[in-house]
Amino acid sequence: MPTAALSAEQPPYRSDDFVRVEKIDAHVHLHGTLPTFMSRAAEDNIRLLTINVNYADFPPLAQQRSDALAFVRAHPHRVAFATTFDAGGSEQPGWERKVERQLAGALDAGAVAVKVWKDIGMQQRDGDGRAVMIDDPRFTPIFGMLEKRGVVVLGHLGEPRNAWLPIPEMTIRGDREYFTAHPHYHMFSHSEWPTYEQQIAARDRMLDRHPKLRFVGVHLASLEWNLDRVADFLRRYPNASVDLAARLPHVQLQASLDRDKVRRFFLEFQDRILYATDIACQGPQEDSACAAQAHDTWLDDWRFLTSADTMQSTEFATAFRGLSLPRDVIDKIYQGNARRLFSRAWTEGH
Ligand SMILES: [Zn+2]
Repeated sequence: MPTAALSAEQPPYRSDDFVRVEKIDAHVHLHGTLPTFMSRAAEDNIRLLTINVNYADFPPLAQQRSDALAFVRAHPHRVAFATTFDAGGSEQPGWERKVERQLAGALDAGAVAVKVWKDIGMQQRDGDGRAVMIDDPRFTPIFGMLEKRGVVVLGHLGEPRNAWLPIPEMTIRGDREYFTAHPHYHMFSHSEWPTYEQQIAARDRMLDRHPKLRFVGVHLASLEWNLDRVADFLRRYPNASVDLAARLPHVQLQASLDRDKVRRFFLEFQDRILYATDIACQGPQEDSACAAQAHDTWLDDWRFLTSADTMQSTEFATAFRGLSLPRDVIDKIYQGNARRLFSRAWTEGH
């Protein structure tokens, strides 16, 4: 295994390389039309994977799908999309065939991945009151079909471990805000749903059942609080990757405690990590603000991953240093890994 000690590292990129280097943000949610945001992405040399999610704060799924298709048609070289399905009513006869038909249609229409979401495990119940978990046999034919077709599954299962803590004990400001605003997902107050470790274990049992499934554990596979756990996950599932979406502050918090350890994680798993933000733009009314916020996020993240600068975050109090990752590692995390996984995405021409 190549390590810094065994092979010479390429020098890191500089801040003015930001525009020159092609980058992929592999986890965003784009809705409506977003001309300013799309111009910003072009200027910043960012390509995008927009992900449909069955989330009440987002438009209905049919709307999300037609928006995603419109983005891909208008910007085939810049935007790709991931489809999803509604897990509601999954105990009903005929549900599975309906979902398989829908997914096949979306894949034929150009979707490059299928998202499964935390509603499985934290929101869906059968008529008898039982919580529906991701390792339920009813999902086996669907994952079997995706495994056979080589389709990437993006799995957001469970939540940050902070969701199972009281608000004042959460490590990141954004988590304190999110779970205050969305008490429904604040699992500390919802012992009627499975525990954090039960969510993780259900996801792992599903992966045990589908060893060839190409899986991305989005949000650092919900193991964001401890990169040792992420490393164990990646070692145990060779066909799995992780994305960094909305969890970079957790990485930075760990870097504030032990930067070398965090850096070693990125070097060891340089082929299995996708750059991603989870930026969500809800339509024209948010276009300008979303463009500005995305630009700031993309620049901050670039600085953290490429430079050795001492930085501060609004998410927690302590300072931390950038990881100063070698160029070839940055190229993989920002582009190569996503292109390998989503080989039909971001095509030129059309
Ligand atoms: Zn997301």
